[in-house]
Amino acid sequence: MSAAALVLNTKVLVLNRSYLPVHITSVKRAFSLLYQGIAHAVDGEYRTFDFDSWAALSASVHDDTIGLVSRAVRVPRVILLLAYDRVPRRQVRFSRFNIYSRDRNTCQYCGRRFPRNELNLDHVIPRSQGGLSRWENVVCSCHSCNRRKGGRTPEQAGMRLSRAARRPEWTPFMLETFSLRRYREWAPFLSTVDVSYWNTELQE
Ligand SMILES: [Zn+2]
Repeated sequence: MSAAALVLNTKVLVLNRSYLPVHITSVKRAFSLLYQGIAHAVDGEYRTFDFDSWAALSASVHDDTIGLVSRAVRVPRVILLLAYDRVPRRQVRFSRFNIYSRDRNTCQYCGRRFPRNELNLDHVIPRSQGGLSRWENVVCSCHSCNRRKGGRTPEQAGMRLSRAARRPEWTPFMLETFSLRRYREWAPFLSTVDVSYWNTELQE
């Protein structure tokens, strides 16, 4: 990949109209939102810029830039959505990614961490015995524990879950911000997030 393509894939923090972080997107998508007038770029002094005024800013040497229309344009690290004032989705999507994240890539039987490609999803109560595909019945398991357990419940297999499976209390957004590189430009906005807000128990 070229240097420009690499920069285009780096991350930008997206704020709603109330300056609350709602999302993380790519530089490429952020420029598209800016260009369409859906978002404004935010600088380190909380000033906002539309595409033209942002493009007119001279990039300083330490900023990431991309070449646009024959000049270097500074890459925004924070953008503000002009018409979006909803709060982030509080429902955590029941997805493989989120189950792996909830279980921290750790086999829930032997307690060891694995790369994601060495883990499966395991139905604690097997589907063949009426187990449902839901947060409380699906966990990460390594291949070897998965084979050992087979189509049995943990009790039938003489195995134990290291902890009960639950619906996660975080949102994928917060988890993502912890695992990604964080840019210094994001700090003022992330620190305004009330932790209790993000940790609220989610309803079905
Ligand atoms: Zn295991």
